Amino acid sequence: MEKQSATASPSKSSKAPVPDKPLPEITIFTDWCKRCGICVAFCPQQVLAMDENRQVLAKYPEKCIACHMCELRCPDFAITVKEPPETGHTSKGGQA
Ligand code: SF4
Ligand code: SF4
Repeated sequence: MEKQSATASPSKSSKAPVPDKPLPEITIFTDWCKRCGICVAFCPQQVLAMDENRQVLAKYPEKCIACHMCELRCPDFAITVKEPPETGHTSKGGQA
């Protein structure tokens, strides 16, 4: 299965502010995507866009807030969003 991983690399954007935190990982399964545009329409951050072939892409991944709206609305389970790993603290507590 072909898939497109759209995790942003902070150094790739020339105009957006460079985030210093990990970004959500947006994965689009192009084999399953029927190019309906629902995910693009429902994304509250305008992260997603369609190219000239109506292929969905994460155009502004740095704006993603991991709300999962695209994932929930996609009728074909063709897009997933994974939260970035927590940083700055540990959930299990320290080990002595
Ligand atoms: S909602 Fe799903 S099937 Fe429709 S364009 Fe987005 S990823 Fe593709
Ligand atoms: S998780 Fe939310 S903000 Fe991120 S691409 Fe999907 S709809 Fe947009």
